[in-house]
Amino acid sequence: VFIVADGMGGHAAGEVASRMAVEIIGSWLQKTIEKQGKASGKDLVQAVKEANHQIFISGSENATLQGMGTTMVALFQADEQAYVASVGDSRVYQIRTNQISQITRDHSLVNEYVERGMLTQEAAEHHPLKHVISRALGTNTEVEVDLLEVLLQEGDRFLLCSDGLSNKLSPSEILTLLNQSNGDLEKACRQMIEAANQKGGEDNITLILAACKGDTL
Ligand code: CA
Repeated sequence: VFIVADGMGGHAAGEVASRMAVEIIGSWLQKTIEKQGKASGKDLVQAVKEANHQIFISGSENATLQGMGTTMVALFQADEQAYVASVGDSRVYQIRTNQISQITRDHSLVNEYVERGMLTQEAAEHHPLKHVISRALGTNTEVEVDLLEVLLQEGDRFLLCSDGLSNKLSPSEILTLLNQSNGDLEKACRQMIEAANQKGGEDNITLILAACKGDTL
């Protein structure tokens, strides 16, 4: 399972929340596979909910961790399906036949305004409340998890990233950098980080690129 989690909360609490998310989701899926031989999208959602529960409990019980939370996007393969789960404003882009599309929804205040027709996409890009997220892992007792299913094709690529990248590079800029890297995923990652930093790079930048080779991510 590939996971990007962008933590938030004072002191080191955001770091704790994001690390917990990655560890709990990974081990929950591993245990599920050991028990039933495989895991599905439903199990991925269950894993995310378990992470939410544990982060919330830790945040409530430790004064120094109070209010901590994290965004989370996860990509997981079962048979020929890829499952994508998301909470918050980290994103997953799918790249197929030279087209890039954002397949997750941003759970942010500003995006909710856009979806309700109260704000244009252009105005949203530079909105002062752009960083305010409307859903996070660990901040409430319950969490709603978006789940997507993609039938994998050879050559599919997926980019999981924090808003530190997506606020700086447009989808077409990402696609251009990917094309210039000639299939070298590590090189593409490094170039994306460099390009985002050249545009200011004020926020932390976390990303994963995964490609489908044969029938495996
Ligand atoms: Ca961030």
